[in-house]
Amino acid sequence: MQRTGILYVISAPSGAGKSTLCRELLDIFPELRHSVSFTTRNPRPGEVDGRDYFFISREEFQRMVAEGGFAEWAEVHGNLYGTALKTLRHCRETGIDLLLDIDCQGAAQLKNKQVAGVNIFILPPSFKELRRRLEGRNADTPETIETRIANAAAEIREAGWYDYIIVNDTFSRAVEELKAIIVAERHRTGCIIHNLPAEFRLGTV
Ligand code: ADP
Ligand code: 5GP
Repeated sequence: MQRTGILYVISAPSGAGKSTLCRELLDIFPELRHSVSFTTRNPRPGEVDGRDYFFISREEFQRMVAEGGFAEWAEVHGNLYGTALKTLRHCRETGIDLLLDIDCQGAAQLKNKQVAGVNIFILPPSFKELRRRLEGRNADTPETIETRIANAAAEIREAGWYDYIIVNDTFSRAVEELKAIIVAERHRTGCIIHNLPAEFRLGTV
């Protein structure tokens, strides 16, 4: 019997470095998969449909909502984003570990539905640095940047109910800390038990 896949749910205010950190983790752990979300936002330069997101219209998104196709979905900074139920089911059943880069509303929905997952929150070192990173990314209009900064304080208040908090100050240290969480969660007894030699019989107290 194989173990079920682990869901690593990662949230952060926009610009904290979550996408960059997630890309690094996917390089380090090739067996870890990125959950490709659906969104109504327009693709940024360099983003690829089906790899970064499934880019769909509001009508298509609402149809999926009505059909119960999402495990969670939310409006974030004026656009709709959602994780397909199918994606989570497939990974659970096949034992694939999945990285979910979703906002705190979506993470809270999964927690409330008692979907088992490891909730990790990424903080920037300061609001000043958050702004610097958003502006330095050169991906958003000044209005979009202001919306994202205005939303950051409320998002950060949500960090208190996450299982882990990582401050993304020095990038390499944040990566090491995330690696430690991923490895530790894979060594929980409930995960390891399925991979032990058959001759071992574990007792309980
Ligand atoms: P998010 O996905 O959280 O919105 P990104 O991963 O796009 O954020 O990062 C925002 C910007 O900050 C990018 O230009 C990225 O290269 C930069 N960045 C990420 N982590 C760090 C860090 N630890 N120190 C300095 N810059 C960083
Ligand atoms: P971006 O537009 O910068 O790619 O993402 C904006 C925000 O939407 C980020 O906080 C990101 O985590 C969140 N997001 C991306 N995909 C999903 C999703 O499927 N569900 C939810 N709830 N949020 C998502």
